[in-house]
Amino acid sequence: MDFLIASFRLDWEKRHTLYQKRENTYREPGIRSDVSPVEADCACYTCQNYSRAYLSHLFRGNEMLAGTLASIHNIHFIVNLVKKIRQSILDDNFEEFRDSFLNNYKK
Ligand SMILES: [Zn+2]
Repeated sequence: MDFLIASFRLDWEKRHTLYQKRENTYREPGIRSDVSPVEADCACYTCQNYSRAYLSHLFRGNEMLAGTLASIHNIHFIVNLVKKIRQSILDDNFEEFRDSFLNNYKK
């Protein structure tokens, strides 16, 4: 639980940073008309109900809902990441999982 609280605080301090394969995509050109979710393969409430264009709109307007939706996605992301790490350790392939993850999510 401390891990989740730390993650939430980190999100809040970063001001609307979303954990995703491409960092800060809400600032990319063309994002205002992008109706795809933050992460296509994410099952969180935010990704299932809101588009990147709408989140971009919320971020640009400094709307409080932006932080809430970002936190929902980020907490879901962290919980699933920890589950995948645990499973990779049990399957004895953590190093492969780590390398794959860092290739997709590294800046
Ligand atoms: Zn999501």
